[in-house]
Amino acid sequence: MTITESVSKRERDGCKGCSADVRVTGEQIERLLSKIKADARVSDELYAKRLSACGGCASLAYDTTCMHCGCLVQVRAKLKDKGCPHPQQAVREQWEAIY
Ligand code: SF4
Repeated sequence: MTITESVSKRERDGCKGCSADVRVTGEQIERLLSKIKADARVSDELYAKRLSACGGCASLAYDTTCMHCGCLVQVRAKLKDKGCPHPQQAVREQWEAIY
């Protein structure tokens, strides 16, 4: 299969990497966040810290998506048991607990 054929197949199959589907609205994110149980959430303070780190990260795409894990950062940052998947410890540390 040539590259052109491969891209055409992905476009036809709705590959998120090749279509507008990858963009997520604030409303969709809010809907996802509302489904997270209270005991699975981080504090508002840590959530803000995590989102701030993502906002300054070169691996953030479309203002929503982490290029290392494919997660919506607004959702991942809300979850207690999740961490930053960046390969550099210095970036991961920005996402961790408040000291
Ligand atoms: S690598 Fe970490 S800081 Fe960067 S976008 Fe992903 S979760 Fe956020």
